[in-house]
Amino acid sequence: MSEDADTTRIDQLEFQNPVTRYPSIEPPPQRQDEPGLAAKMTPSADIGEFSYTGTGRLGRRKALVTGGDSGIGAAVAVAFAREGADVAITYLPAEERDAQEVLRIVAESGRKAIALPGDLSDGSFCREVVNLAAEQLGGLDILVNNAGKQVAVDSLEQLTDSQVEQTFQTNILAMFRTSRAALAHMQPGSTIINTTSVEAYQPSPILVDYASTKAAINNFTKSLGHQLASRGIRVNAVAPGPIWTPLQPSSGQPPEELPEFGHSTPLGRAGQPTELAPAYVFLASPESSYVVGATVHVNGGMPTP
Ligand code: NAD
Ligand code: MG
Repeated sequence: MSEDADTTRIDQLEFQNPVTRYPSIEPPPQRQDEPGLAAKMTPSADIGEFSYTGTGRLGRRKALVTGGDSGIGAAVAVAFAREGADVAITYLPAEERDAQEVLRIVAESGRKAIALPGDLSDGSFCREVVNLAAEQLGGLDILVNNAGKQVAVDSLEQLTDSQVEQTFQTNILAMFRTSRAALAHMQPGSTIINTTSVEAYQPSPILVDYASTKAAINNFTKSLGHQLASRGIRVNAVAPGPIWTPLQPSSGQPPEELPEFGHSTPLGRAGQPTELAPAYVFLASPESSYVVGATVHVNGGMPTP
């Protein structure tokens, strides 16, 4: 969203009506190749450059955000920087343009901004990237496992083994690897936050592989949260509903369904990426010290168990 859009001048702390904080967008049918670029979305999405105000809740923290170049991860990177954290982001090499934009905003917020391109479906990259982040940030207190692959396919017959494997590698197996590597650097007080989805509870018939990984992420979060609690490392999840990000126009949804995206939520509109950021800030900050294995739902009111 551009700087002059009225809605983006209202920051997240101002009293406002959640129905009208953002317009109910009707994105025209559009298709990008995976992984998609925020820079090519119509309309653009709000990652908080002009709408997220920090209040010092993550001072001097060191954070790694996977998939931090666009969408929810970008909004989290921006918010973390505004809250005082140094931030490293991972992204695919094809996303350099989006990544540079996020790194600019983080740096302009006065924080260290570190670029770590690579493919998280490669197990060795998962380990390397965490070590590189810790080395370049001078430690690691926060890991946000946010990168994800979502490709809609009509039928199980059309869903290839190769897609299923790639979706599981990226969405859930990478979380085992990055989290394991992060433990070598984390002190008590550190946090891991996983991005799951409303798809874990209301799986769409055209997202069988994706929805399965999101259900797995929920149990991974609860199980690892329990395991690490006594070490003082908290693991939690955020479950977004329909959010306007590059995931959706790059095969995440059938293009003809994009104009209606998010309209069926109780708030009647898709969410903007920056509306997710406060949930991650809360879970990363010590103020959530008694929150472990939990899921924060940010979905415009869609019922969840
Ligand atoms: P996005 O496209 O902006 O972000 C996803 C990121 O994942 C990409 O930017 C890319 O860098 C990364 N990624 C994908 N494949 C990768 C790979 N093989 N290696 C490394 N990185 C890879 O979209 P988003 O919607 O912000 O997605 C972020 C997370 O939110 C995902 O886990 C997604 O499943 C989840 N989510 C999104 C929605 C939504 O409606 N947008 C809803 C629920 C959950
Ligand atoms: Mg991206």
